[in-house]
Amino acid sequence: MKKNIYLITALLIFISFSCTKKEEEQPVKPSFELIKNDVIPAFDSDNAFDHISKFSALGPRVPNSKEHQMAKNYLITVLKPLADSLAITDFIQNGYEDEKLNLTNITASFNPGAKNRIFLCAHWDSRPWADAEKDKALHTSPVLGANDGGSGVGVLLELAKVLHAKKVDYGIDLIFFDGEDYGRHSDLSKFFLGSTYFAQTKGSYSPAFGILLDLVGDKEAKFYKEESSIQAAENIVDLVWSAAAATSSKHFISEPKYAISDDHTPINQAGIKCIDIIDAELVGASENIGRRAYWHTLRDDIDNIGIDTIDDLGKVLNYFIYSLKFN
Ligand SMILES: [Zn+2]
Repeated sequence: MKKNIYLITALLIFISFSCTKKEEEQPVKPSFELIKNDVIPAFDSDNAFDHISKFSALGPRVPNSKEHQMAKNYLITVLKPLADSLAITDFIQNGYEDEKLNLTNITASFNPGAKNRIFLCAHWDSRPWADAEKDKALHTSPVLGANDGGSGVGVLLELAKVLHAKKVDYGIDLIFFDGEDYGRHSDLSKFFLGSTYFAQTKGSYSPAFGILLDLVGDKEAKFYKEESSIQAAENIVDLVWSAAAATSSKHFISEPKYAISDDHTPINQAGIKCIDIIDAELVGASENIGRRAYWHTLRDDIDNIGIDTIDDLGKVLNYFIYSLKFN
């Protein structure tokens, strides 16, 4: 009996030893990583800026307006010849006072058959109310949203051009969400309408992760590591900020600061990892003085957009996209 116990103990020791050995021999590879690539395509920040400028010049992109329809047409016209496939998803959501909002999410896919995929996204609508204005009479005026919506769109449209010219060996979807900025300040339930609809109808779509761009174009933009993104997907935050370090970005700051609810919130809640690159200091327009206090005001126009910021961000994203390898 005793002998048997010794034998079992010896066996267990042997088994656990051999298991440990096996793990040492085959270290678990991450499912994706950044591998230095010497051929990173150029990011044409003039083209991205030009898109932001033209897109903003259409006027406020408020759901159900003529300008909103023009902005939708602009996106489709630019994306159609560039994307491998383009999905235009029209849907209706309830607004305030029985208004039915006609909304559209647009997805430009590259390498649509690839199983390993990521997505980049931004919202394309603009806010119906300039309710951060000090003058209450202005609260029902619509916002132009050159930075709040427009900047992310311009960067994604230039990325579409880059991805069309130089293929990646995994799949990328560029997703343009509608209805992000419809809600009144006290009512979070009417924000993120497009991304919420996307999350509710995602079906079998299961990308490795996503990157949201919001408020990315300001001349003096500061991109801290947004705290809810860290909660949801710290490894992706670290990878993106490592790409920023590799490209000597002046705008990415490797420090956690500010937690923001944004389009990435419903997406993370639906189980798809998504981080937010956002100039979060703008949110709240709380600086009493200074050019940067324009969030949700009539001053969110092209004058605040800096081509150097767009160039800096574009370099980070191109470095990231073209160094990313799935294992
Ligand atoms: Zn906004």
